Amino acid sequence: MVREAKGTTKPGYVNPNGQITIRNTDAPGTDKNQYVYQIACSKYGCNYGANGSDIHDRKCPQCGAGTAGLALDAREGKEKKGVAAFFGKWPGAETDEELLAAVDDLRKPRS
Ligand SMILES: [Zn+2]
Repeated sequence: MVREAKGTTKPGYVNPNGQITIRNTDAPGTDKNQYVYQIACSKYGCNYGANGSDIHDRKCPQCGAGTAGLALDAREGKEKKGVAAFFGKWPGAETDEELLAAVDDLRKPRS
């Protein structure tokens, strides 16, 4: 893990250029071990994505002559993936019979 400058990835952080950290989009960034963070510009409310490691000195790509922002679209509206990913694995689609058969199988002495 790469350590980011203290606090810059926390929602509400404002960097010296007036760029505000909104949230971690969970999308992989373009820099090593980085996520794309949604950043808002306090001047005109522009929104764009930035690597976590870039937040501290990011300038707005739309009104602050910063480099182009990263895409924010792909993961928009797809929250709560953690819970779904966890419960997606279990329980499975097995019937009781299949589960019992599986348990029986485990009990059988190996020959
Ligand atoms: Zn802006």
